[in-house]
Amino acid sequence: MASKEEKRRRAVLVQMMVAEDTKKAIEEMPISLAHLGQLFDYLDVELEEGCDHTPKITTAFLTSNNLNTETILHWLQEQGGFCDCEILANVEESWENEISKNT
Ligand SMILES: [Zn+2]
Repeated sequence: MASKEEKRRRAVLVQMMVAEDTKKAIEEMPISLAHLGQLFDYLDVELEEGCDHTPKITTAFLTSNNLNTETILHWLQEQGGFCDCEILANVEESWENEISKNT
């Protein structure tokens, strides 16, 4: 049986690993946290009209900001964001903490 002390030490190690993974993920993402935050705000407003199950609002945002649309759409898909409402539902959750911490 692991002692209380040992459990606490392990918990800290896990936290550090998660933080390290997050840092790496942020470094490797093809869009800045600032732009990602703006994208989510934009989707929040534009999706009031409903989602047609394409990423057209996201594409319009990326294009108008001169971002790498193709790479970023692919990255969003990897996180379960295949259309505008899924990007907001599945991707925002993973990043909202980091966005509020870093912007
Ligand atoms: Zn949708």
